[in-house]
Amino acid sequence: IRAHNLPEDPDYVPDSKFYKVEAILRPWRIPQVSSALLKMGIRGVTISDVKGFGAQGGSKERQGGSEFSEDNFVAKVKMEIVVSKDQVEVVIDQIIGEARTGEIGDGKIFLIPVSDVIRVRTGERGEQAERMTGGRTDLNSAV
Ligand code: ATP
Ligand code: GLN
Repeated sequence: IRAHNLPEDPDYVPDSKFYKVEAILRPWRIPQVSSALLKMGIRGVTISDVKGFGAQGGSKERQGGSEFSEDNFVAKVKMEIVVSKDQVEVVIDQIIGEARTGEIGDGKIFLIPVSDVIRVRTGERGEQAERMTGGRTDLNSAV
């Protein structure tokens, strides 16, 4: 599904050069989401196993025949992707496209401004630190 309208110059508040796209998603959708992101030139992604509840509550997930997880929270994966502002909407669009089932529990995406990016190996900051070899910027400028 590509229901998302991609705004040309989105006015996120507060404005920032970089944003973290933080998506809480169904664990079994993660392989699809990450391979789609990789294809579009996203090279830096962090994921964690998390648990939570939303409208889905904790009571509706059926896994291996049992209806409740032990503590009533549903297992999810949190995916964190820091990108430059101009890449935010395509990343969100891709995540929705790959993660959406239309059923309650598909997840949620939060957009968080990021003040700076620092590459530990080199000490680079800002744009130089955020750019990744073979990343989306490389892919786009190669065309
Ligand atoms: P280097 O060129 O030194 O390898 P790098 O920018 O490729 O630097 P890594 O040190 O390989 O970064 O990244 C370490 C970890 O940081 C990754 O495994 C990933 O979890 C996380 N990470 C890196 N970049 C991003 C990003 N843009 N968004 C989210 N997580 C990231
Ligand atoms: N924006 C980076 C690039 O174009 C990629 C960032 C990322 O992979 N999270 O190289």
